[in-house]
Amino acid sequence: MTHPAENCTTLAELRAAVEAFDGCALKHDALNTVFADGNENAEMMIIGEAPGAREDEQGKPFVGRSGQLLDDLLLEIGFTRAENVYIANMMFWRPPENRNPSRTELASVRPFVDKHIALRQPKLVILLGNIAMKSMLGTKEGITKIHGTWQELHVPGLAAPIPAMPIYHPAFLLRNANMKQPCQQDLQKFRQRAVEMGILNPT
Ligand code: URA
Repeated sequence: MTHPAENCTTLAELRAAVEAFDGCALKHDALNTVFADGNENAEMMIIGEAPGAREDEQGKPFVGRSGQLLDDLLLEIGFTRAENVYIANMMFWRPPENRNPSRTELASVRPFVDKHIALRQPKLVILLGNIAMKSMLGTKEGITKIHGTWQELHVPGLAAPIPAMPIYHPAFLLRNANMKQPCQQDLQKFRQRAVEMGILNPT
């Protein structure tokens, strides 16, 4: 059976298909579908995990405390959400009690996530935390080992892999303040590549 993601040829079609999707039980308890935020034409894409309570209320990713920290970390490397990045999640609906989305739930929407990336064709990707990293890259090692390293993200429908860097999830940084500095170093490394690729003005 074909997944509804397959027929989507624009972001608007993809958003509509996600909103109409009935194959993931998390949707039933959610207030809103959380699709994406930021600049639809940005050359850098950030992929998080799943919406929390604030995101569920507002229908936008990363608008709660994690989102505030994410914006602050991005600003430190000269990125703004409005201009430089496009932000999405692995899951479009809030899991109850903010539990991790299950493998089955993630698998049910994975074709949407792949299509989301394939339609946007970002030049660089940031994967936030273990769930986004492990689901997108299939890595065995955890984020503690792999954060800050360049990985290849293979996306169905795209001819070449996209350079992707896993970093700590901001929700983890809120609980582990001592990990903020390594994350800032990773982001500097990410920024450097963006400058080298001509995606970001070095000023
Ligand atoms: N955490 C995420 O991974 N995504 C959000 O949108 C908010 C918090």
